[in-house]
Formats: sequence, C-alpha cells, structure tokens
Amino acid sequence: MSETMRAMIWQQPGEPLQLQELPIPRPGDDEVLVEVSACGLCATDTRLAPDNAEGLPRIPGHQIVGRVVDAGDAVDIFAEGDRVGVSGPARSCGHCAACRADQQPYCAELRRTGEQVDGGFAHFMLVDHRFAFLVPPTFADIEMAPLLCPLLRAYSALEQATAAGARRIGVYGGGYAAQVLVELMHKRGLEVYACLAGDDFEGQTMARQLGAEWAGGQPDAPPQRLDAGLVLASEAAWVAQARTHLGPAGNVFCTSCSPSWAPGSQRVADPPRSQIRSLFTELAGVRVRSKPRTYGLPEADAALAALPFAGSSEPLVLCVAGR
Ligand SMILES: [Zn+2]
Ligand SMILES: [Zn+2]
Repeated sequence: MSETMRAMIWQQPGEPLQLQELPIPRPGDDEVLVEVSACGLCATDTRLAPDNAEGLPRIPGHQIVGRVVDAGDAVDIFAEGDRVGVSGPARSCGHCAACRADQQPYCAELRRTGEQVDGGFAHFMLVDHRFAFLVPPTFADIEMAPLLCPLLRAYSALEQATAAGARRIGVYGGGYAAQVLVELMHKRGLEVYACLAGDDFEGQTMARQLGAEWAGGQPDAPPQRLDAGLVLASEAAWVAQARTHLGPAGNVFCTSCSPSWAPGSQRVADPPRSQIRSLFTELAGVRVRSKPRTYGLPEADAALAALPFAGSSEPLVLCVAGR
C-alpha cells in the first residue's frame, strides 16, 4: 500500500476544497482504517467550513461506505475486507450516562465525522470501531452511502413514533431515503401515507407501488388523521402542513440534517448504535429504485454546488475508489 492518499480538504472558511496528497493515517488502538469507496453528500457539508473555522483544516464527509484495511490492537470485531458504513457520530466518551444507556448521540463529548474528526472526502479514513457498521450486502456502495445520514435520522424518528404507539404514519417529502423508508414501513405492517410535492407524480406512483396506503401531492390531505408525521423534506412549510394532518395525540418529527428550524416538531437525533444495527438488518429485504448521481473525488466542490438544486430527490455521491 502506498504511504500517501488523496483528500479534499477545507483549509479556509468560504474557500473551495483543496485536493491534497496526505499521509495515510495509522489506526489507534480502538480504530479501524477504512479505504473509502463512496461518500454521500449532505447539505451539512456545505455549511461546514463557515461554521467550523476553528476545526480547520478538516476533511469533510459523513456518509461513508468502504472496506476495513487495517485495525488497532484492541479491535477484534472486524476482519480485513469487511464492508462498513460510517455516519455522523464518530466517537463518544463511552462512560457517561448517555453512553451507558446506549444513547451515544447525546454524549457531551460526541465527535462528528467530517466536523471534529476527518471524514470521507479522502481515499482513507480512521474511525472508532464502535462507530463502523457492516452494511447490508443487497446495497451497492453508491446506493448505501447517501442513505447514511437521511435514512438513519428518519429511522430514529420512526422508532420514536412507533415506541409512542403510532401505526398510521405520514412521510413528508419524496426522494431517495423516503422511498426506502416507505418500503421498510410497509414491510413492518405500518400504514404509510406519502405526502409529496404537488407535481411529483412519479414519486406518488412509486410510493403506492412500494406499499403506501395513500400517496398525494400538496395541498392534498391524507384521507385519515395520522398518528405521526415524519418530515424528510428540508423546508419548514412541510412541518406546518404535517401538523394539520395529525390526530389529537400525534407528533411531527423533523429528520433533516439541518439546524433546528421547525417549531412544532420533535427534534430527532442520530440513532444510537443498536438502532443502526437494527436498521441494517431490516434493510436486507429492501431494494433501492433510483440511481445516485456520481462525481469523482476532485469534483467534490462541483458536487457540493449542485446540492441545493438537486434537492433531496437525486442523491449525490462521491465515488472515491479508483479516481
Ligand atoms: Zn447529513
Ligand atoms: Zn459519553
């Protein structure tokens, strides 16, 4: 293996990412070295440099699929070549009340991938082995990567909603993660109501094919009062709309990886590790229908610039391996 790798790195706030040749990092005792194959892009990546000036330089990217190529002495759960996914949470203290209760995302010392530790816009990255997860074999690398932020949060919201007894649940906003979520919910026997953009006829048809009880476009309302609404879209108007569809005890959960912008919705954190494992087990019976748009690593800036226009409907992925 060569001693250096290519990475796209934030040097200064507001400046483009720079392609640099860096030493391949060596894993600490509890870390694995992952050879990155694909890294999904998220709106958070574009906010990173201005928000995180003190953390720079930093390699962004928090939706990574790659293969384990090396591990520290304390790691015995992965073998070389294991295909793993890495999402936002990168490391927690391991001994606070939140960590002991399997609620690592609430740990005060939580470090996030691509923010406080280097992420996946690079050929290799390190991760605490407790925050790397074997990904379902039915998903290709580029199919899995863009799900590792939005679908994980949506799943966390779904778990909160169903724990509170919700069975009749609205999914707000279309797109890639929504398709997977609708199918997964249908397979669980939940009643799914897909609320999409008024002109997203393709999405409405697909939602029905994936098992939604009802699919409609704004401003249509579901024919039933709902127990919960999961808002995957990143505009606050969707939350307001979802609230009008609720029954008396219903809640709206906002899953977007955006700042907390949605009054009247429950805050959703990243899921704890046990939930990520459950999700990946459930995903074994699910297939993706859409194809992500791919970019090479040096095109990361162009890909990030394309994000606001692509919206949530077409996932964007850096294909890191081999380019
Ligand atoms: Zn994200
Ligand atoms: Zn902790």
